Amino acid sequence: MNCRFVGSFYQYDQTPRDKRPQVAFAGRSNVGKSSLLNKLTGQRKLAKVSNTPGKTRSLNFFLVNDRFYFVDLPGYGYARVSKTERAGWAKLLEEYLEKSENLRGIVILMDSRREPTDLDLQLFDWLSRRQLPGIVVVTKADKLNRDRINRRVRQVESDFGLTAIPFSTITGVGKNELQSAIMELLG
Ligand code: GDP
Repeated sequence: MNCRFVGSFYQYDQTPRDKRPQVAFAGRSNVGKSSLLNKLTGQRKLAKVSNTPGKTRSLNFFLVNDRFYFVDLPGYGYARVSKTERAGWAKLLEEYLEKSENLRGIVILMDSRREPTDLDLQLFDWLSRRQLPGIVVVTKADKLNRDRINRRVRQVESDFGLTAIPFSTITGVGKNELQSAIMELLG
């Protein structure tokens, strides 16, 4: 994938308005979103992998193959930020999800070892309200053995009625499958 960073936007109105389709990536801070974007695009330093959770506060746009956008949504749910700040991210996220006309689907990342948070559940709500397709990625699959990860994936699929893909940046599992699923979203 040829992928380049377009910009970080703190207000929805400032985001690119051309007709290229968009696929968004969402998940709580530290879920492995930057690592996944780097792995997926094969560009290691694309999304800065940060050990400071909650660093992603903006809508980060990447142009892929000059054909579509990957939109890295604000990482939510980090405890050490103020309520006001968290409300700000939630508003930006909600506005994007409600207004973006070129959004074709959302990739929701969930840590293989964590239960879904209220905000994860809210995302599924938004998805079904907008009737947008979604893919769940179960991250850090290398942290569980094969049996447990398979059970986890099936659980997520039955809980949310969406396709779930186990993914690991360490073993590379899930990369091809996710790429195909995203291409399908883009049509
Ligand atoms: P983000 O906050 O969602 O962007 O998460 P990062 O990509 O910065 O990753 C958070 C932490 O999880 C980092 O320490 C990563 O090295 C680690 N991590 C990310 N993906 C994986 C994975 O597939 N396996 C393992 N074991 N660790 C991962």
